[in-house]
Amino acid sequence: MIPEPTLDISIVIPVHNEAESLPLLHAELDTVLKALGRSYEIIAVDDGSSDDSWPVLKQLAEADPQLVVIRLRRNFGQTAAFAAGFDQARGEVVITIDADGQNDPADIPPLLDKLAEGYDIVSGWRQNRKEPLFTRKIPSRVANAIITSNTGISLHDSGCSLKAYHYEVIKTVKLYGDMHRFIPAFASWMGVKVAEVPVKDRARQFGKSHVGFSRTFRVFLDIFTLSFLLSFQGKPMRLFGGMGLGTGAIGVLILAYLAFIKIFEGALLSNRPILWLGVMLVILGMLFLFFGLLAEMQMRTYYESQDKSIYVTREVIRHGDADANKG
Ligand code: UDP
Ligand code: MG
Repeated sequence: MIPEPTLDISIVIPVHNEAESLPLLHAELDTVLKALGRSYEIIAVDDGSSDDSWPVLKQLAEADPQLVVIRLRRNFGQTAAFAAGFDQARGEVVITIDADGQNDPADIPPLLDKLAEGYDIVSGWRQNRKEPLFTRKIPSRVANAIITSNTGISLHDSGCSLKAYHYEVIKTVKLYGDMHRFIPAFASWMGVKVAEVPVKDRARQFGKSHVGFSRTFRVFLDIFTLSFLLSFQGKPMRLFGGMGLGTGAIGVLILAYLAFIKIFEGALLSNRPILWLGVMLVILGMLFLFFGLLAEMQMRTYYESQDKSIYVTREVIRHGDADANKG
């Protein structure tokens, strides 16, 4: 069971070498959140910074009881920093925001308003972004198209860190690798309503970006994993078995044809390269089938060892106690 939230809002901030940006961000958040008049906490996760981020955070936390600071033992990456914050979060709404000041805390109230309309996830959509066409814009369009076709969830800007989640989403979805940008896509599995709200994209004032061009390739590999998990996590045999039957069937047809001409026409097979293709496809088909069986066993271990459920309930209504009617 997911623990009940005890606050209205949790803000989660991943921090890696952002010492100069932190005081300003904290002041901006403080102003915006105080004005809302709701209970909140700010959770800043120092992801193994090598600059003064940790001392700065500790100092800020001394003056602000609403600020919770967490320090990871080394640099685990932005996704892990988010996950550490999510584990501590006690708010009914969990909002993620970058530490570098590129997201504007003033965009938080519209996000909350949208969520209150009954959405489970509200994602920021950065307007007027100045991004290079070939290294960033085109890859991100393609990535979004693939995600949309896999999940039915269409976001213009998956990469925007400023997002608001209902706590059930955050507490249900498990994060690995660099997957934080795909939380809405993963959460599509549990049936979520997703909306977008336009937000500002500000220039980085201090420090430098952690990402380069190599991220494009990593993101594509992640989307590949994501598509597989979403489509076949609960039924891997459908994928591997399908491929096994396909390749195996072609192999069997080839071998049957060769057997036919050998037996009835006395053809010589030793000079037929296609013989090897047939043999290879049959073996490959069998291997795929066995892969499928192994994956099915693996999947059962995954769900049962962790008491994971294959469904997520929205609510249960039970009027009265069944035992009381026994008479
Ligand atoms: N970040 C982190 N751990 C890392 C890399 C980044 O916690 O290993 C944080 C970083 O401090 C920032 C956010 O993740 O708050 C986004 O990073 P960055 O601004 O470098 O990414 P970009 O905005 O350029 O995509
Ligand atoms: Mg940034």
